This record gives sequence, structure tokens and C-alpha cells, in this order.
Amino acid sequence: MTSFALRPVLAKAGAGLFLAAVVGTAAWLVFSGGCPSAAGPSAGSGASAPDAAGSRHEALWWTPLPGGEVHCTLCPNACRLGDGQIGLCRVRQNIGGTLCSLSYGQIAAAHVDPVEKKPFYHVLPGSRAFSLATPGCNLRCLFCQNWEISQSYPWEVATRTVSPEEVVEAALQSGAESIAFTYSEPTIFYEYMLDIARLAQARGLKTLVVSAGYINPEPLRALLPHVDAYKIDFKGFDPVFYENLTGGARDPVLEAMKIIRESGVWLEVVNLLVTGQNDGEDDVRALARWVRDNLGTDVPLHFSRFHPMHKLANLPPTPVETVLRARRIALEEGLQYVYTGNIPSDEGDSTRSPRSGEIVIERKGYHVIRNRLVDGVAPDGDPIPGIWK
Ligand code: SF4
Repeated sequence: MTSFALRPVLAKAGAGLFLAAVVGTAAWLVFSGGCPSAAGPSAGSGASAPDAAGSRHEALWWTPLPGGEVHCTLCPNACRLGDGQIGLCRVRQNIGGTLCSLSYGQIAAAHVDPVEKKPFYHVLPGSRAFSLATPGCNLRCLFCQNWEISQSYPWEVATRTVSPEEVVEAALQSGAESIAFTYSEPTIFYEYMLDIARLAQARGLKTLVVSAGYINPEPLRALLPHVDAYKIDFKGFDPVFYENLTGGARDPVLEAMKIIRESGVWLEVVNLLVTGQNDGEDDVRALARWVRDNLGTDVPLHFSRFHPMHKLANLPPTPVETVLRARRIALEEGLQYVYTGNIPSDEGDSTRSPRSGEIVIERKGYHVIRNRLVDGVAPDGDPIPGIWK
């Protein structure tokens, strides 16, 4: 993936798409926080931090351990790091007994996207989301669709240092109605996300998190008051699949989805169907039943087609019929809003009223053709859940 970085003020380009020019910074800028500004050698992680001063910001969610070690409590990986070591996410380092975020303010990608591309289908239809990412991820999905930035250390990709205030200003100037933390894994730039989200909500922007949901309950609960909508990329219902193909575990993600749902923050779930790996009928039916029984029938569930990528580039794309079959199974299990993505079929593009079956938001791919909702109510009187204004 090409990495994009923000200019202070974005230039409008083309049909409403705003892109920043590529600006690879030769040297990182020291940002803030209690972390020292000089880079120390990395030890034990197998990675070498650059010699130049880096962007450092004291991390949240960690505890000191005897002997200068730290324990990161942000995600279920629960890294214990000796001095100089970097966590599995590649962006949190023990520097002299303090856990520091190396990705705070380090933007590797920024675009203004249709909100449907996240995908959110029940959030401000037809609006644009100012979308950004830093490097790093706390999972290791073999099928990652954004591996160039998610599986990189901050010094391995072009980034630009952008303050939270500059991000919000750029989002407002772009005409976006929301800021989306996306592309890589926002959990691992938690501190940056939180600071941006607070400012964004104060300026009237919605905040959207697009995440794999591999986060511990306590930091998740602390983040949720600053989030309007959460999209969870659920990888597959088989726990063995989770362990073998993502490097994570399934159950913490199930728990995270329940916490989000109980909080009242809007939730949508996406399942990327990887050819022959997690796309069997049993897997799909088990996921649909779990969503129905634990989250509710009105949580949107999206099935998305895998394209050969990263370490599974040898696999063929998911057959279109497999994606459509998954949608039919989820509907059979009682889910009311089931969508499909990345396929040349409009069968799962539009939102229908559960009461009458009528199309209430008509889409073609990521584009909204017609929105018949009035204050979230369909023409047949059925209220459709979501964030509509
Ligand atoms: S956020 Fe990073 S450092 Fe912290 S536990 Fe997870 S992988 Fe490890």
C-alpha cells in the first residue's frame, strides 16, 4: 500500500476525495509525554529501533515490574517487556522502565473515504469519514489486507507527525462528518486515538473505530465514551482458525463485542471470508447464531470477500456464491441486517426494512443511490437502528 501523510491543510482532489501528498519524514519528531526523547537500543524483540530521536508518548495501560520490566495491559497479548524491548504490536516500547507509544502522531495513511467503505451501513449514510492509521498491529493475520502498514515498525514506512488538533482541523476542512481510526489497528495507537476522539467530538465530528477488537475490557470501557460507532473485524468463529491464522484468540474479541453492545455505542460486525479457511457453513452459522443470541438481531453483519494477499496470496478469492450463501445463512438465523462486500453483486448492498422487506437505503457498492429514511424511520413506519444524524 502506498503510504499517505497529511499536509496541515488538505487539498481537495477529484470528486470529493481528499488525499494528502506522500511526505516521508527523514527524522521523527519528539512528541510529548514522560518518555525520554533519545532512542535506546532495542533488545529482545528482534527489532532495532532507529538511532535518531523518535516520536515518543507515554503509554496508558501498563504496570511496572521488578527489574525495570513493564507489563502492558492494553491487549490480550499481555507483553512483558524488558528495557528496550518492543511489544508484539511493534509500536510500544519499554524505555528505561516506562512504556512508550512509538506511533503517537505518526500517520502512515490518511484518506477521506465514504463511510460505507469502512464499512458502516447504519452510520450517516452517504457521508465521508476522515480516515487515518499509524503503523503496527497486535495481530498477525496471514490474510491481512493492509499488511504493508499493519505489519511494520514506525520507522519502516513513510509517516508524518501530525498532532490531534491538526487531524481534527483537517477533518473539518475536508467536509467529513466523522473521523475513522482504521486501515491498521487503532487499539495499538490508543493514546493518539483517544486524544483525537475527545477533540473531534467536541468539534461536532463523530468518531468511528474500525478494529479487530483485540483489546482488554478495561481500556475498551475507558475508550467507549469517546466513540460513536465501532466496527469489529471478526476473523472467524473457529478458535483454532483464530490462533493459527491471526496470532490471537477468539474469545477476547467476543467479549469485546458484548461490552461494546452493552455500552450503547453503535456496533457493526464484519467477517472476511477467507477461501477454504473460515467460510464453511458451520462457521458462518455459528457466528450468526452467536451474534443473534449475544448481540441481538439488529446488529448489522457484513460478509466480505477475501482477495489473495500477504501470506495467503496463493489462495483464490472467495467465490462470490460463498459470500452470498453466508448472507442467506445469517438471514435464516434471524439476523435482520446482513450485507456483503467486495463482490460483483448487489444482493447484499442495500438496507431493507425488516417489516416489509422494502429497500430503505439503496446502495451500489459503497455508493448510496437513495435513502428513504426519515429520522431513522422507514416509509412503512419501521424504525431502523443506527446513527442517522
Ligand atoms: S498493545 Fe502491544 S505491547 Fe501491549 S500487550 Fe498488546 S501487543 Fe503487547
